[in-house]
Amino acid sequence: MAAAEDAGADWIHVDIMDGHFVPNLTFGPKMVADLRRATRLPLDVHLMIERPERWVARYAEAGATSLTFHVEATDDPGGTIAAVRAGGAQVGITLKPGTDVAALIPYLDVVDLVLVMSVEPGFGGQAFIPGSLDKVRALRAALDARGAAAELEVDGGVKVDNAGALAAAGATVLVAGSAVFNDPDGPRAALAKLRAAAGA
Ligand code: ZN
Repeated sequence: MAAAEDAGADWIHVDIMDGHFVPNLTFGPKMVADLRRATRLPLDVHLMIERPERWVARYAEAGATSLTFHVEATDDPGGTIAAVRAGGAQVGITLKPGTDVAALIPYLDVVDLVLVMSVEPGFGGQAFIPGSLDKVRALRAALDARGAAAELEVDGGVKVDNAGALAAAGATVLVAGSAVFNDPDGPRAALAKLRAAAGA
């Protein structure tokens, strides 16, 4: 994380996986609290967990700046949004690659962030799913049609070779892991390349 901060990252994206909603296990609230103490950057916490409404208060208390949950993971997206707000965090909503963007439309006016997953959630280092670009365009149009100011974020397989197309499609936030940490020129150069590609 220090390397990402030193490289000039705007946010730190934290992938929380529960071994149920996705077939992998990462961190819990304790790690978010530890990260909170270690950086001033916003902590953009992506909850890949079932029934996020049970957990959002704890992640907010741990210091998450924003909490993004999966629309597929709960029977009560509205209640989950309210619980995130009650905890004092910004609220984001997301969907898996196989879920139609229509599932998010009812919530576009009441969230701070909309996240397009451009790989199947669960593991880093996967290839970008090309159809994700259409989802970004569709959500950009839907947000603009409502005058909604939510950030439009893309997570999964973001690289120098697709960052420009994503920005052009209307994405405002790009999440990059492998593209930053596996670049032979190092994180700082990698981030500069991504920003240049995105026109940011
Ligand atoms: Zn993520």
